[in-house]
Amino acid sequence: MSIGFWTPERDALVCTMWKAGHSMQQIGDALGTTRSAVSSRMRRLKKMGVLPAPPPPDKKIVPFKGMPPPRKPKPVTLMALERMSCRWPVIVHDDGPLLYCGGQREHGSSYCSNHTKASRPQKRA
Ligand SMILES: [Zn+2]
Repeated sequence: MSIGFWTPERDALVCTMWKAGHSMQQIGDALGTTRSAVSSRMRRLKKMGVLPAPPPPDKKIVPFKGMPPPRKPKPVTLMALERMSCRWPVIVHDDGPLLYCGGQREHGSSYCSNHTKASRPQKRA
């Protein structure tokens, strides 16, 4: 590949197609070059700040460490309880099934952390 291949027009097309969600292979096909040539050019463009780096689509968004998102356990029926599900009864219907917390059980307890606390006698100051 000649040094003069990457013209501003081609760079612009790479940016446009990448932002539109095209793969490197598709961009390479459109430009009449290879996927790896596009890949290395995109690395350059990213370094130069021309091309924004979108998050890879197959990468899960990792929640900020130390601050897990608050998980609201959905009440489940007895049949839906799993081995590590909290067994705290939460909803009692007159004519419906008894529902259990279903949250993640604490080790050594039948309940999740909230219900483990709730199951212990409260100390009053
Ligand atoms: Zn619970």
